[in-house]
Amino acid sequence: MNYDYMLVRLGELTIKGRNRGKFELLMLNKIKQALTPYEKLAYEQSFGRVYIRLNGEDAEAVANALKDVFGIGSFSPAQRAENELGAIRAAALAVMDAHKPVPATFKMTVRRAWKAFPHDSQEMNHLVGAHVLRNTPALKVDIRNPDVELKVDIQPQGTFVYCTVVPGAGGFPLGMNGKAMLLLSGGIDSPVAGWMAMRKGLEIEAIHFHSYPFTSEQATEKVVSLTQRLAHYGGRIKLHLVPFTELQTRLAQSKQDHLIITLMRRSMLRIAEKLAEKRGALALVTGDSLGQVASQTLGSMNVIGRDVRLPLLRPLVMMDKQEIIRYAERIGTYETSILPYEDCCTLFVPKSPATNPNLRVVEGVERELGDELDRLIDEAVAGTELVVMTAEGREGKRSAVEDSWF
Ligand code: ATP
Ligand code: MG
Repeated sequence: MNYDYMLVRLGELTIKGRNRGKFELLMLNKIKQALTPYEKLAYEQSFGRVYIRLNGEDAEAVANALKDVFGIGSFSPAQRAENELGAIRAAALAVMDAHKPVPATFKMTVRRAWKAFPHDSQEMNHLVGAHVLRNTPALKVDIRNPDVELKVDIQPQGTFVYCTVVPGAGGFPLGMNGKAMLLLSGGIDSPVAGWMAMRKGLEIEAIHFHSYPFTSEQATEKVVSLTQRLAHYGGRIKLHLVPFTELQTRLAQSKQDHLIITLMRRSMLRIAEKLAEKRGALALVTGDSLGQVASQTLGSMNVIGRDVRLPLLRPLVMMDKQEIIRYAERIGTYETSILPYEDCCTLFVPKSPATNPNLRVVEGVERELGDELDRLIDEAVAGTELVVMTAEGREGKRSAVEDSWF
């Protein structure tokens, strides 16, 4: 059926007051952005909804593009009719006729939001339902468990008839809740954490620590691809590539094998915090999940996150690996994440990393390094390179070195 409208319901409608207006405005912009290729669309916004007139654009293609837009509660391809009984009946019948597979039972739900319409919703249920039944031979009514729920929504600007409600991505429109830095490794978890942060309305900039030449260019390319995939949801994402080799090597020399991961993570967070400050971000996001590995026990998290002043957001902290993998598959990062390239942390993985590192010992090691640690951290920040990714690929060239990554 050639539906002529897409009816979009905004999510998180509990927000009130001034934020509500901001939410709706941002939402409309994000929807328009996602639907840029469909030039004939026309938009109207009212009461927590966006009505998109298709003007001949393909409803299925538009629906596909809407699925990934954060802040949408649900949407429905709909047929619009004038606010007049005959027209509404005709539209209802057309929508039912087009439904595949052919339903054996249905249920009518009329909502009269425009109170000036002469028949109330009860009357309309009968008037429209009877018309559909009369003209569809084998169809029966089933209130409890219908094959199809036919909805008729009478609004001031017209009546919308539909029978499908597609769940949206939920959350908030991107940027609604500020900006955070995402610590993005090449693994399965952190891209999912990034997607979840974006779904909550956070704009993200990604940070990746590499240990070139100990880690390969492919390892960095993998993170670049993951950022590109996230840009499918985030429009355009900045990726900061931090040279971590010297710092990592120096930390390894402290001969505290079992604490090396703890020490590295603390330094990563310090660098991330400095980058956050430069970029005006108010939180750090990681892919930590409680108990998954030694560095993600409660004891480790306590020592690793101890000195961070920005909120440290861990969207996956209470999730099981299988759930995280399902998300990774759904958002399209899994295939890339499981490519075998090494991460900087795997290089120095000790045989028995501490699951309960001692904060005083860790602080002692850092104190011994003293100014040198601060200097190495500052150098890493200063040596950071920037790549900007869109869903289509790299935008411009990497800032420091023109043609190669390193
Ligand atoms: P992931 O699948 O995200 O790599 P993981 O289960 O492998 O997670 P760790 O390697 O312990 O866990 O990393 C925990 C978190 O620390 C990651 O989710 C990520 O946020 C951050 N992190 C680890 N290594 C890096 C890196 N090289 N660059 C940026 N962030 C990193
Ligand atoms: Mg990892």
